[in-house]
Parts: sequence; C-alpha cells; structure tokens
Amino acid sequence: MSDNNANEKTPVKPAHFIQNIIRKDLEQGVVKQVVTRFPPEPNGYLHIGHAKSICLNFSMAEEFGGVCNLRFDDTNPEKENEEYVNSIKEDVQWLGYQWHGEVRFTSDYFEQLYQWAVHLIEQGNAYVCHLSPDEAREYRGTLTEPGVNSPYRDRSVAENLELFTQMREGKFAEGHCVLRAKIDMASPNINMRDPIIYRIKYAAHHNTGDTWKIYPSYDFAHGQSDAIEGITHSICTLEFEDHRPLYDWLLDHLPVPARPRQYEFARLNINYTITSKRKLKQLVDENQVDGWDDPRMPTLSGMRRRGFPPEALRNFCAQIGVTRADSVVDVSMLEYAVRDVLDKNAPRAMCVLRPLKVTLTNYPADKVETMRAPGHPVRDDLGERLLPFSSSLYIDQDDFREEANKKYKRLVLGKRVRLRNAYIIEADEAIKDEQGNVVEVRARVIEDTLGQDPADGVKARGVIHWVCAKDNLNCEVRLYDRLFTDPAPDAGGKDFMQSLNPHSLEVLKNCKAEISLSSAKLDEHFQFEREGYFCLDRKYSTAEQPVFNRAIGLRDSWAKIEQTQ
Ligand code: ATP
Ligand code: MG
Repeated sequence: MSDNNANEKTPVKPAHFIQNIIRKDLEQGVVKQVVTRFPPEPNGYLHIGHAKSICLNFSMAEEFGGVCNLRFDDTNPEKENEEYVNSIKEDVQWLGYQWHGEVRFTSDYFEQLYQWAVHLIEQGNAYVCHLSPDEAREYRGTLTEPGVNSPYRDRSVAENLELFTQMREGKFAEGHCVLRAKIDMASPNINMRDPIIYRIKYAAHHNTGDTWKIYPSYDFAHGQSDAIEGITHSICTLEFEDHRPLYDWLLDHLPVPARPRQYEFARLNINYTITSKRKLKQLVDENQVDGWDDPRMPTLSGMRRRGFPPEALRNFCAQIGVTRADSVVDVSMLEYAVRDVLDKNAPRAMCVLRPLKVTLTNYPADKVETMRAPGHPVRDDLGERLLPFSSSLYIDQDDFREEANKKYKRLVLGKRVRLRNAYIIEADEAIKDEQGNVVEVRARVIEDTLGQDPADGVKARGVIHWVCAKDNLNCEVRLYDRLFTDPAPDAGGKDFMQSLNPHSLEVLKNCKAEISLSSAKLDEHFQFEREGYFCLDRKYSTAEQPVFNRAIGLRDSWAKIEQTQ
C-alpha cells in the first residue's frame, strides 16, 4: 500500500490511535511481531459490540503482519458453557476471521496462574483474607475515603501458603476466605485496594470439570494470560481503564515471559439496540425472542439469520472508527452498510407478499410465455432469470386501487401499468367478495408492449412487480422491525422490557415468489424488487415451505417517518 499515490481513488481513512501506537512500537523496535487477541467470556452469544472488538483485534494483526488469538476468558464456571464456546467460534469465522493456531482458554493456564499466585504469596505480595463480603466492603473505603487494612493482611508467608493450599484442596466452604493481592488500601484507585485474586467456587467448569475449587479473578487471569500468549497489544474497552494499574502491577510483580500493554477504546453503543450479553440473555430466557439467533437480535447469529452479510458488518466497524470518546452510533449507519453490500451483490427477484389475482382476459388461457430478466441491473455476471408469464398472475394488493389520483403510480381501473420485465396491462374490472374486498382484477394486455411503449401513445403510470399464478414458489415471508421503540432502551437503568416493539415481527403466509427462487440456498441474498433484501431462514425454512426473512427494506423508512412527523 502506498500512502502518497496521487492516483489513489478511494479516500484513505486517517489512522486511528491504536494504529499509531502499533506503528510506532514496530518502528522503534519495542515490538517485533504484533500479537493481539479477542478474549470473550463464553457466557452468551456475541453481539454487534463484539464485532467492533473482533474487527479491531484481527485487523490490527492483519494490517501489521501479526497474529490474533481467540482466547476464552473462562474464569466464571457458573455462567459459562460449551454452547456459548461453539457459537462464538462460529461467529468469529462467519465474520471472516481465523484465529492463530488453536483456540485458547484461560482455563488452560489455571495451573500456571495458581503457581503465580503462590509466587505472590512467597514474595509477601498476597494474603488469604477471612473478611466477610460485607466487612470487606466496609474496609474498602469509598471514592473519597481511603480503605482500612484487613486484620489478616500481615499473616506470615507460611500461614498464607498453608491456607491457600487448603483453599485449593477444597477444605473450606465457598466464601470462607479469598486470596488478595497486597497492594495499597489507601490508593485513590479502588482496584488497587488489595483486590481479590482467587475465590473458592464449587462449580463444574466446562473445560476443567471439578478439578478446581478456586478460580482466579478476571484481573488476575487476564494480564497473565496475555503474557503467556505473548500478546503485545491487549486491546479492551474503556471500562477497564481503571484496571490498567492493577494489570501493570501484577505483571511487574510476577516472573511472566512477556510484557503486554493494555490499551482501551470506547465501546460501541447503537441506538434502538442493546449491547449487553446479560440483557440479551434476559430476552432469551423470558421468551421475548426466538432464541439468541432471533433475526431481531443484535447478536451476530441473529444478524446472520436475518440476512446481514458479514462484509456489511466489517464495513460498518471500519466506518465507525476507533476512538476513546464514548458515543452512540445511529442504527441507520448499520442498516446503510447492509443495504450497500446487498445492493451491489444480491440478485434481483420478484415476490408478491400480499397476493391479488389478475386475470388477463385477452391472453390465451393455455399460453405460457417466458420472459427474460437480468439477475442484476449492472452485474452481468449474475446472469438472467426466466419468468413464466400466463393469463393468470399475482400482483400485490397494495398495487391496485379502483380509483386513485395521479400520485398513485400503480394499477387503477381504466388505467395502465407496466408489469416489470413484461407487458403493459390495463385494468377493466374489480371482482369483490361478499364483504366488498377486491379478490380479483380483470385486465387486458396491451399488444406489442414488450420492451416498448404502446402504439397508441397512452403510457403506463408506473411499474409493478408480479408473479405467474400457474408457476411460482409458495412461501412464507417474515418482515422485521426494530426490537425496541425507545432509542435508548436501557439508558440510565431503564427497564428495556417496557419498550419492546410489539410490531417487530410480521409473518406473511402464502406469498408468491418467482419460480427461480426454488433453487435459493441458505446464505444467498436476494433483492425482492420494491420490497427489500431477503434470504432463507436457516431455522424454519424447508424445501416444502420456504421461509424468507427480510434483512432490510430498500430505504430507511424510519427516517422518512421522522421527517414527515
Ligand atoms: P457484555 O457486557 O455484553 O457481556 P463483555 O465485555 O462482558 O460484554 P466479553 O465477552 O468480556 O463481553 O467481551 C469480549 C471483548 O469484547 C472484550 O474485549 C470487550 O471489551 C469487547 N466488547 C464487549 N462489548 C463491546 C462493545 N459494545 N463494543 C466494543 N467492544 C466490546
Ligand atoms: Mg466481560
């Protein structure tokens, strides 16, 4: 890549602060090869916020010729499980990234971490503390008042070693005691006031079973795991900024094989969206959604099922950039990124969502013609579709009115409309049921209007889509809207369950799609002309009953509503 190429057409995005740090480290020889990691806790499915972290960690490794590990931060056995591990691996790969070597687990390092805890004790830098949680809170002090030393702080090394061994051996009940680093109870940073580094827990761990009765804290495990893996740039979100002094202190007091550095960036927040595994889990557990991969969920698996292409998520993450300033990104940016990728790549097709029968009275009843339509308006490589055409068709109920003014560019009694990729027709009669609903339109084909205007000069009002009633694919279509009606559903401790959008899912049965869609495959995306971008639902679609999800409409209907209000 050349930075100063005058012929370069694509604007070069200015480097963000992490790129600058890494470039400088490489130039100054502080770092030989960049090693980053993505460190999820397997306590839920990944969401769009994690995509930002994944893209950042993997792209830094890629850009600077380094590697990126996938490490499960699995120190909390009660909340973690294998299902989450598997989904996270799948999601990272789906997003387009491959981690370096084997998948890693903090639990692989439990023995080493234990030995380092012993080392801290031997150096007089850790002690077993018997304060109850309530007492510990009192001793900890506040943001404005220093803490008070624990009465157990000055135990001998021998006694601490003995007690810590007994903790490991399961001699004590949960909560009986903890191991704490001996740092500084008067530190202005509460994280430095003798933080807990090991707790007793009798929970089965997804990897280590019941081998361990004690588990390291996040703070004790994270930096040391980074050091074991030779991570050079340990990139995390801003809430860990205040933990950095502890991260550094531990590395400085242990015989670790490498000296990683932690850098923080602002987490991704998106309006109308929740980015917290805990809250997303609540939606799943309370059956407000159809599992973690419900297409309305901001999880990677939900977005995949809905039909968001991974490239769109990567583009979105590149677009929003990396800073240290907290902000809320407009969800329409994400939607724009999805449309942008799909518009370029999705083959076109026609599907009538709310079918209304049209009978062409002057077209031979037994004739079937084949119309040709491009797969894509500009992408010749996407080939051609063949559309059967007969006297019996479906159009959308919204595309017919008995009467309408000139603004209505669709079919009206006595007026003409072009059927996309086919003839112009004129409506003669509306047939109604007993309730007065139009159930069929009788119309005429205007001769010689394939690809040309009518000879009599009477033009069509507009173009509508249609599907042959004799040969089509009967399918279900699911339309999605935002899951929350409140732009900030969980701000300031608000109960996000109160702003669930009751209209976030609309299921349409007996939709009629053009027959070429019978060969649609999972992971293929289509633009249903005039309706949006769709893909098959990987959970419910079957050969007998295809189900299409609308990933996104053709334009931002919310922006339109907001403008006209
Ligand atoms: P959650 O609160 O949703 O559980 P978490 O931070 O606890 O998120 P982890 O599994 O620990 O989830 O996260 C793995 C990595 O992803 C961490 O480095 C974390 O900083 C990052 N991450 C999590 N949420 C976001 C977000 N909204 N934006 C950017 N990065 C995030
Ligand atoms: Mg976490």
